[in-house]
Amino acid sequence: MAEAKTAELMEKIVSLCKRRGFIFQSSEIYGGLNGFWDYGPLGAELKRNIKESWWRSMTQMRDDVVGLEATIIMHPKIWEASGHTSTFSDLMVDCLVTRKRFRADQIEAQSGIAYFYQGASDSGSGKESKDTFSVLLPPGKPPESARKVAKQFYQMRGIENATLLGERSEAAQNTTRYNPENGALLTEPRPFNLMLKTYVGPVESEDNKSYLRPETAQAIFAQFKNVLEVSRQKVPFGICQIGKAFRNEINPRNFTFRSREFEQMELEFFIRPDEAIEAIYGSVAKPAGPGHPGEPQPNWGWQLWHQYWVEERFRYYESIGLPRQSLVEYWQKSDELAHYARATVDILYKFPFSKRDEKGELMGEELEGVAARSDFDLSQHQRFSGKSMTVFDEELKPAWSKLSDAKKAELSQSYFEARQRYLSKTGEPAEKADKQARVDAEALGKGYYIPHVIEPSAGVDRLALALICNAYREDQAPDEKGNMETRVVMKFHPRIAPVKVAVFPLLKNKPELVKKALEVRDLLRPEMSVFYDEAGAIGRRYRRQDEAGTPFGVTIDFETLGEKGPELKDTATLRYRDSMKQERVKISELLQILIKQIRFG
Ligand code: ATP
Repeated sequence: MAEAKTAELMEKIVSLCKRRGFIFQSSEIYGGLNGFWDYGPLGAELKRNIKESWWRSMTQMRDDVVGLEATIIMHPKIWEASGHTSTFSDLMVDCLVTRKRFRADQIEAQSGIAYFYQGASDSGSGKESKDTFSVLLPPGKPPESARKVAKQFYQMRGIENATLLGERSEAAQNTTRYNPENGALLTEPRPFNLMLKTYVGPVESEDNKSYLRPETAQAIFAQFKNVLEVSRQKVPFGICQIGKAFRNEINPRNFTFRSREFEQMELEFFIRPDEAIEAIYGSVAKPAGPGHPGEPQPNWGWQLWHQYWVEERFRYYESIGLPRQSLVEYWQKSDELAHYARATVDILYKFPFSKRDEKGELMGEELEGVAARSDFDLSQHQRFSGKSMTVFDEELKPAWSKLSDAKKAELSQSYFEARQRYLSKTGEPAEKADKQARVDAEALGKGYYIPHVIEPSAGVDRLALALICNAYREDQAPDEKGNMETRVVMKFHPRIAPVKVAVFPLLKNKPELVKKALEVRDLLRPEMSVFYDEAGAIGRRYRRQDEAGTPFGVTIDFETLGEKGPELKDTATLRYRDSMKQERVKISELLQILIKQIRFG
């Protein structure tokens, strides 16, 4: 029941997105392209507002984060260093009858009766196939259904009038080996690299092969040294970037949620290794409990920095209108973590299409991952490029020289072990890994280390979709004649609403009203996105803006012209989208009123 309702809600949202110009299918006139989406006039404004609010809060409002804008195509070695060339793959399976492709981990476990066949023959042509095949049927379905699918399988192998050989059946529990749509057996899972390939230059050869970046983060690591040099930053500090990313997803789905082209907003926040903190400050501050740990402190280790960024990101989502209860904080389990990650928190939004738990609650889908990635990324680029990624920490060297020998030995040993672990995992022979880890541990005592990193990585498109789903409401409002009707209203937070204010002259055939309304439009326009609309009855104009999610409407009426008394001259009606309340405000104060509500709303 709940599922049917949420499916219906999603249908309404998708249809509103098209009708009002939030999101269109890419290349729609040619039948569309699976996994690609375009943003219409309202969607483009929404996305721009998301990116601006993220950029502002991540870098412009802070002293310790700077921005970067790197290219989409980069040196292919970057993807070898990052591990994407060898391991950025999902397991895929194909239906042996329809050839439809699925992501192996997205096949729901099914139970039923499996029918097995040893082969098939065609008495007419004498052809025979010894290929084995099986079909899973839900309990109670007649075996004829399995035979029909099996015959299709053998027909594809040239057995036209197939007589099935050696049929037997047995119960199957919780299997993911069958196509949920027709019951046919699937191929064995095999890896499929998600990077989109291209060739740089006029020759299409292996040497010129390159990739469209599957994430924006790697450019930040590759440019780490350049940015450090020019920005006068010192660890801890961050570099952030917003940009396109591409993944050849096996099964794009859930509207824009899983697309093949999308945008990411990523921060790499570089921190000292815990051994350096301990050497400088005597100990590493540890989380005192859940929640925001407050203003960053110099003695924070990776755990507090990680907690800080998780909480900062929740605050950000709340600041643009996603209530805390619509979000889920999911700590990846140890078997889900990447081998180099110390902890990863996924921030999930309860999309209408999310799965439900046993209590019927939406479980949420990933909006963002906040990962503590140790020094893996910079270490990899150091190894692959041969360029040093270490920094010199002015405070570390003198602090180290003051440590007792026992403390030096303890911190050295801990750092050595971490470096050795990393190096052995990269496949370095034990002896070489040992030697290099010793060199690294010695360098630490001289003030040099490779910074560790905390990475909050979010998707613009998933956030846009979450904001759209969150904003969608249906309520009751009076029509022109005072009869109640269903109103569709997009309750975007004013900060990210595509259009902030609509300006209406009450009547379009009254030049004084139109003139004044245009003046108001021009007064507001330098500060915010304004939509001017003079067509149709005022009630209908309000409804159109409700659907677009415009939080404020300003109507210029006869009171504005002073026709209903001089005290109302140069005032206008300010209408609020959510409450539908109206109030009279002085035009001279309008700009300040709106700015206040948009910023602090
Ligand atoms: P998923 O498990 O959903 O495939 P992921 O864990 O691979 O996601 P990351 O590599 O951590 O995702 O990417 C960071 C963010 O980029 C995600 O949280 C998401 O917001 C966004 N993102 C990743 N893949 C896609 C996609 N195919 N379409 C839209 N956004 C995406």
